[in-house]
Amino acid sequence: MRYLITGGAGFIGSHLAEELLARGHCVSVIDNLSTGSITNIEHLKPDDNFTYVIDDMANEPLLAELIDNCGVVFHLAAAVGVKLIVDSPVHTIETNVYGTRLVLKHAAKKKRKVVFASTSEVYGKSIKVPFSEDDDMVLGSTKKSRWSYAASKAVDEFLALSYAKEKKLPAVVVRLFNTVGPRQVGHYGMVIPTFITQALAGGPITVFGDGTQSRCFCYVKDVVSGLISLSETETAVGDVFNLGSDEEITINELAAKVRQLVNPAAKIEHIPYDQAYEEGFEDMRRRKPDISKIASLIGFKPTKNIDEILTLTADYIRNSSGDRN
Ligand code: UDP
Repeated sequence: MRYLITGGAGFIGSHLAEELLARGHCVSVIDNLSTGSITNIEHLKPDDNFTYVIDDMANEPLLAELIDNCGVVFHLAAAVGVKLIVDSPVHTIETNVYGTRLVLKHAAKKKRKVVFASTSEVYGKSIKVPFSEDDDMVLGSTKKSRWSYAASKAVDEFLALSYAKEKKLPAVVVRLFNTVGPRQVGHYGMVIPTFITQALAGGPITVFGDGTQSRCFCYVKDVVSGLISLSETETAVGDVFNLGSDEEITINELAAKVRQLVNPAAKIEHIPYDQAYEEGFEDMRRRKPDISKIASLIGFKPTKNIDEILTLTADYIRNSSGDRN
């Protein structure tokens, strides 16, 4: 099988490419390197089953040809990272909506399966925890640019599900929760590589808000296995799935674990949200998935707990050349 991965030079995309190649498949990648990096796929270049193009998805003839030549598209290319979204909302909305529209349009023409990577952000400020796939979206005001990411991804979900219903496109929507592991960088606000890098540098570890907000972190290789299994499961088509870990931890607890593991001398500093992001910034208080649907369909179960994830990620950051963060 030949797979196309949009955003394949990104953190999750590069792990997905690696795993598909290891399973004997052919992989093509398109990435404009806006948040991805060529170093993420450097080790894949010698593989004869691997090809990549550095270009934008807005290059429609190229995208159409790549889709034509593959059996399944993993559509991961998107503007991601809360910091990036707050700083560049126009780029976020345009990239996410336009890119997805093009992928769906061309995949529908050729009846190629699309696995669309959506986000847990679409649950917004909902206080009904854990989040289940059929829950309401509770998004904040359009004056708060942070919600433009969730809204743009929600439009993408509507579009993918509409293509599935109306044009019989085999599409699967996957809502990714916080994913972590080697090659993730802290530039765009990702908390674990940020905390580890800060601790390695002697601190301080910067906790935003009061640190009582919580997240569930899933190891990237578990996420990749889930994505591949969903792509291979016919009954997943036309449906939406949460994908992530349901082991919840507060950001204060996370900071304490990183300090303990990486550098017990590092200080932990609390920074108000207004200062960390923008005035009036609204964080998601708790973000925990109900993973019973994906568990019952494909037997999904995370294999790594937070301590193992932190150890693996810290080892990677320590051993990488130092130019990753
Ligand atoms: N966060 C933090 N310090 C940082 C970066 C992030 O306290 O240097 C917090 C952030 O405010 C959020 C959580 O960590 O509550 C997870 O942030 P991240 O950007 O990794 O992902 P999110 O879950 O917000 O998409």
